[in-house]
Amino acid sequence: MENQIMKLPLIPLRGLSIFPHMALNFDIGRKKSIEAINRAMDEDQKIFIISQRESTTENPTEKDIYNVGCVCTIKQFMKLPGNHLRVLVEGEYRAKLVKYLDEDDCISAEVEAVEELDIEDKTESEGYKNSLNDMFINYLELAGEEFKDLIVELEEEEDNSVYCDVISAFLPVKADVKQELLEITSIKERMEKLLVILKKEIEVVKVEKLISNKVKARVSASQKEYYLREQLKVIQEELGEEDEFGREIANYEKKLGQIKLPKDVKTKIEFEINRLKNIGPSSQEGSVIKTYLDTILGMPWNKLTKDNLDLTNARKVLDEEHYGLEDVKERIIEYLAVRKMSKSLKSPIVCLVGPPGVGKTSIAKSVANSLGRKFVRMSLGGVKDEAEIRGHRKTYVGAIPGRIVSALKEVGYKNPVCLLDEIDKVSKDYKGNVEDALLEVLDSEQNKTFRDHYIDVEFDLSKVLFITTANTLDTISRPLLDRMEVIEVSGYTTEEKYEIAKKYLVPKVMKEYSVEDGQIIVNESALRTIIDRYTRESGVRNLERKIASVIRKSITEIIESNKKKITINSLTVKKYLGSELYSYDDLDKEDKIGVVTGLAWTGYGGDTLPVEVAVMDGDGKLQLTGQLGDVMKESAKAGYSYVRAHCDMYGIDKEFYKNKDIHIHIPEGAIPKDGPSAGVTMVTAMVSALSNRKIKYSVAMTGEVTLTGRVLPIGGLKEKSLAAYRMGIKTIIIPKANEKDLKDIPKVIKNRIKFIPVEKIEDVLKNALVGEEKNGN
Ligand code: ADP
Repeated sequence: MENQIMKLPLIPLRGLSIFPHMALNFDIGRKKSIEAINRAMDEDQKIFIISQRESTTENPTEKDIYNVGCVCTIKQFMKLPGNHLRVLVEGEYRAKLVKYLDEDDCISAEVEAVEELDIEDKTESEGYKNSLNDMFINYLELAGEEFKDLIVELEEEEDNSVYCDVISAFLPVKADVKQELLEITSIKERMEKLLVILKKEIEVVKVEKLISNKVKARVSASQKEYYLREQLKVIQEELGEEDEFGREIANYEKKLGQIKLPKDVKTKIEFEINRLKNIGPSSQEGSVIKTYLDTILGMPWNKLTKDNLDLTNARKVLDEEHYGLEDVKERIIEYLAVRKMSKSLKSPIVCLVGPPGVGKTSIAKSVANSLGRKFVRMSLGGVKDEAEIRGHRKTYVGAIPGRIVSALKEVGYKNPVCLLDEIDKVSKDYKGNVEDALLEVLDSEQNKTFRDHYIDVEFDLSKVLFITTANTLDTISRPLLDRMEVIEVSGYTTEEKYEIAKKYLVPKVMKEYSVEDGQIIVNESALRTIIDRYTRESGVRNLERKIASVIRKSITEIIESNKKKITINSLTVKKYLGSELYSYDDLDKEDKIGVVTGLAWTGYGGDTLPVEVAVMDGDGKLQLTGQLGDVMKESAKAGYSYVRAHCDMYGIDKEFYKNKDIHIHIPEGAIPKDGPSAGVTMVTAMVSALSNRKIKYSVAMTGEVTLTGRVLPIGGLKEKSLAAYRMGIKTIIIPKANEKDLKDIPKVIKNRIKFIPVEKIEDVLKNALVGEEKNGN
């Protein structure tokens, strides 16, 4: 390396640095620099290149340039348009500026080569080099650049100075930092400096990478969506659906403009329409919003039918459509009368309770007809989840509104008659309280602001006239019951059934099947036969079915045999319906020991409850079989104790509880029966079996019994007597306390059946055991 001072043309570099052993390509335009090249080319092509402190300085003087630069060889140059030159130089060695010579047309300098100080210790040198190597590789990897060749080249480089310069030239650091690296003469110091720079650069690259990944993710997601949307547009254009979405949106906006809505509802709908605009029509989310908008805009926010409050008309409609049911009709007329007086009347909730098929649903329909309101029915039987009433939140996949909101949307008016059928059959053993939701729906204080989870805004239910039905009140919770006015609809007598069939069911079925007047005549004997021999029910549902079946068969016959008309009598009924299912007098007309007819009452109406007792030799066991509930089992045990305590009275062996087994059986157990009204029946059957005395076959009984033999009152007397009447029973023994209920028993029944009210079990036995009355009285 030359130690003497040399004079060389100088080029000040702006914003660039050059290191020894590096090639550098740059353009020059300043006259003095072009002249410097020319001079160098005239000599040995050597030139001194040194960086300016500020890249903006146009005509640098001595103070504007650094002290250390690089002596280079010009490898190539070419002229560019506009008096510019593109030069390729290669760095040779570091040199210090000794004297700055600003000649008019060119800058020259006296320069002296810089002596470098290498690391003496080989191990130390290697240590530094390895660290630097590792860090540089790490940096390159992070920067994600493929510089395998450079790495190989570096690993083979033995000269520490060259090694450092290669890295220095490569690093994307500022010119002043590069200048610093150029000026450091100690290799060790230079390596340390490089390690510091690399460490910092690695951190910088890491952060940059992180940021860039984030940005990239965002950009690519939105770009992807953008492109997809654009593609979709093109597809839609091709398919001619271009404006479908636009039309849909306009439609929603139009609808929104047409309905007068509460402010918050309006805001909510506007929000959803805007969301739909942003999301677009074809995403899953878009279709969720559309369904929501269809629902909420389809609700009858202000649509009301006008009530017909004409009482005469109402009475006429109710009578035209239903036989009897006076209580219900009266209650409805009352409601209308009060409504006429005060428009603000809160709708009371009527609960119609009674066995199936007695016309609860259809009278509710008649209420709607008489008022001129729409009718909607929903069955609550088996409803388990609160959401069925109140809806699912919209965020659920496949969320739908609750039944109330759906029903109102379907019916299209805000004030229909809404029948909540089978409110006693709401499932109670499930999460989410269905009853709570119902309370809210039925409570006139709360239902003004009913909020369905799906539509998520308040909807006023106070205009709806709710009517509920139930088979029994036993399973309805107290709070719910408190909100309702219970009207009992009981089963029908044969006479009533006949009237209903003649005046309502037959004409209804005929109309349904479009039978012309006089084409089919169903005579009285036919109807009575169907009622007595083919149905045994509290209501008239089966009766209606059988009538329909008979009429269908007649129509077939008319068509097949080309007949003009058919008159249906009892024989035709038998021909059409096959063998009789029940005989009117189903009773076994024989007095028996240990067999007693009790009476039961379930949600399905009244029924007979035969009790059989058998006594056998044994050791005092009491066995119970048949479908008995717990209450009935308790009743049987109490009865057993009563009999033991009163053996003397009935001539029963005192020791029977030691040497006889008693078996109580309740056959015909299809419907589980329970309740406290079978006490007297079981005692009577036990006494009969133990004392070997017969029971009158035509006597039925109902009543609970205490250990001392008192007979306690029971419920459902009307239904029970209807059942007894259907069976052909002649006498019913009832608790004295139920005497007051006899006023509700239809006359036809009272004419056919003798009711005997009793206070004590002895009186039951007196009236039931064959031959007793003679002994007793
Ligand atoms: P529920 O709701 O009590 O179970 P429905 O209302 O379904 O009974 O009645 C069953 C059928 O019997 C219906 O077709 C109904 O019109 C008819 N019906 C019931 N009671 C009467 C009645 N009193 N007068 C006329 N038709 C009746």
